[in-house]
Amino acid sequence: MQATTITATVDFGRDGKQHGFLKLPYSSDRSAWGCIMIPITQVKNGAGPTVLLTGGNHGDEYEGITALFKLANRLEPGQVQGRVIIVPAMNYPAVRNGSRTSPIDKGNMNRSFPGAPAGSMTERIADYFNRYLVPLCDYALDLHSGGKTLDFIPFSAAHRLPDPAQEAACIEGARRFGAPDVVVMFELDSASLYDTAVESQGKVFVTTELGGGGTSRPETIALADRGVHNFLIFAGVTEGDYQLPDTPPRLLDMPDGSCYMMSEHQGLLELCVALGDEVRTGDLVARIHTLERTGQAPAEYRAQRDGIVAGRRHPALIDIGDTFAVLAIEIDA
Ligand SMILES: [Zn+2]
Repeated sequence: MQATTITATVDFGRDGKQHGFLKLPYSSDRSAWGCIMIPITQVKNGAGPTVLLTGGNHGDEYEGITALFKLANRLEPGQVQGRVIIVPAMNYPAVRNGSRTSPIDKGNMNRSFPGAPAGSMTERIADYFNRYLVPLCDYALDLHSGGKTLDFIPFSAAHRLPDPAQEAACIEGARRFGAPDVVVMFELDSASLYDTAVESQGKVFVTTELGGGGTSRPETIALADRGVHNFLIFAGVTEGDYQLPDTPPRLLDMPDGSCYMMSEHQGLLELCVALGDEVRTGDLVARIHTLERTGQAPAEYRAQRDGIVAGRRHPALIDIGDTFAVLAIEIDA
């Protein structure tokens, strides 16, 4: 396969702290010989594991972006044994645009893996991560939130994996993150995820959903800050005490696609349950009202299974095919 067009201004083999860029040539009306400049920080001190920390995989998910810009300023080589690579704004054009996808090519980074070296800008970034950055790491943490259209109870997450030892390590990493809930996630469309690209290279991978609505809150930022601190200890690149809640995390499972409640109507969403609520099979979860005329009964959506409301649609307007609730099931740890 042809080489990437991205060049890094940091030297991944060098000890010390480096702030730099991943430079992706992008010729546009605004800049004929321009580049997309993705900020990157490396903090390295001798031999040890490598941790790859990413935010801004989706451009409107702010806990990870914020926590990683802060960490890049804070972390010093003397605190590290090994290497920490920090990319706070993975899909940089999307982050600058405040949108989930890139304004250049509409690329959704987390549906663009394994990427392509001569593809769209988003595919080129994905390819660079897949073939250049991920192979450098032993542990990877990718910080997500709900973005403008979803909101979540804050949780860390891992996936069911073919290798039981790798799966156990990922779930342990998610537990050590320090979120109140840990979810074993079922993905609707896993093939093109960054998650899958990292996991298929045998790495210990943890992801999160830390809030949403296209903003951040003090408590979710604090959770992201603590989670990053804890993950570095878990990976063995920093020493210190875990900052964990008093109670161990609740373990939640999403065994199949029935966890996703999806609309078959268009109109006005009236959610009848709140984030974190427990619902029973048959409970009313949402009504969708038509906006076209009065005198119409709303469509009613009832839970198809018992569960905890782990995620919800954020905007009140809804279309056919939109997910409006995500249910997760508590399991024994
Ligand atoms: Zn996301």
